[in-house]
Amino acid sequence: MFKNKKAIIWDLDNTLYRITPEIADMLDETMAMALVHDLDVPLSLEECKALVKESYKTHRDGGEYFYQNYGISPKDLSLCYNARNPVHMIEPYQNLAAKLKKIGLDQYVFTASNRHASEKILKRIGLYEMFKDRFYSVEDFGVYKKNENADVYHQYCEKIGYKPEDCIFVDDSYSNLEYAKEAGMTTIRIYYKNNSAGDKDYIDVAYRGVEECVDALIDAYRKAS
Ligand SMILES: [Mg+2]
Repeated sequence: MFKNKKAIIWDLDNTLYRITPEIADMLDETMAMALVHDLDVPLSLEECKALVKESYKTHRDGGEYFYQNYGISPKDLSLCYNARNPVHMIEPYQNLAAKLKKIGLDQYVFTASNRHASEKILKRIGLYEMFKDRFYSVEDFGVYKKNENADVYHQYCEKIGYKPEDCIFVDDSYSNLEYAKEAGMTTIRIYYKNNSAGDKDYIDVAYRGVEECVDALIDAYRKAS
């Protein structure tokens, strides 16, 4: 499955670090703060936070309810939300950069966070040096999501100079993997509690947490060489 691959493209949020339930709750609150304080949505913080959670459940996107019902633009929300990103809450994995380098393939990051937030996060988790010229945000492609069509994955590959068939794409959100697969990539899903998307045929393999994934990749390429 990993034969003849040349590059790995990592999702950032909840893949290269874990979004614990506490961080997830804080992120919902952060989005509510951006909506109420920065974008003047006429709700209390509590009401807004509850609707963000509801929107995630219904649309897999905390902002969607507000795009539809309050005329908020995805661009404005992305800007305000990312500026408030509580990176200090992130608990980095130990020695992740050293482990990633052991895999021996070219590696990149593709994230739905904006560049500014991604930079802060990469610094926090000790991966900035490794990825500083190798991370791209959806905003670099003029979109806000990775799960709308396969185009963005083709564009990404063009940017890094590989064919989709050369690439392994790793993400915790399985809706992103569907289009990475459609573009022609090998897909890995990262899960935490249980492998809830085990039945999806566009996922080639799933691992519990990034460390298990990295160990498997190191092992696969050790055997290959
Ligand atoms: Mg993610």
